[in-house]
Amino acid sequence: MKKCPFCNKNNLKKHEIIYEDINNLAFFSSQPVTLGHTLIIPKRHVKSVLALTDKETDKLFELVKKIAKTVHKVLKPAGLDIGTNYGRIAGQSVDHLHVHVIPRYKGDFTFLQIVGKSLSPYSNILKNEESKIAEKLRGAL
Ligand SMILES: [Zn+2]
Repeated sequence: MKKCPFCNKNNLKKHEIIYEDINNLAFFSSQPVTLGHTLIIPKRHVKSVLALTDKETDKLFELVKKIAKTVHKVLKPAGLDIGTNYGRIAGQSVDHLHVHVIPRYKGDFTFLQIVGKSLSPYSNILKNEESKIAEKLRGAL
């Protein structure tokens, strides 16, 4: 799967890696919706959760919970969105299973509505904070 950005090690090096083990990886989204927007993926290339074995599902979602708890503890958002998209119609942009953990802060969607559908202006602001936040999360895991 050379074309898959999540199977390409050089591409992954561009992301702030929060956590890695033999099965899974957690890193910041390249297009963060809010500060701390993290993606959790299995290292094995599968398109969706439907293709995981039961054991892989357990390990992936144990990590999702661990990341969500840590993001919540460290960044203190008002809430979290936790989810995964399967298929273009559902908003899947990369055909490698990834679970989003999106911290939600008061007023964040108001800001997103101001900048319109494009998230890139907000993404650039968040990119400046990324390495500091990643260090805090790695330290808390
Ligand atoms: Zn892949």
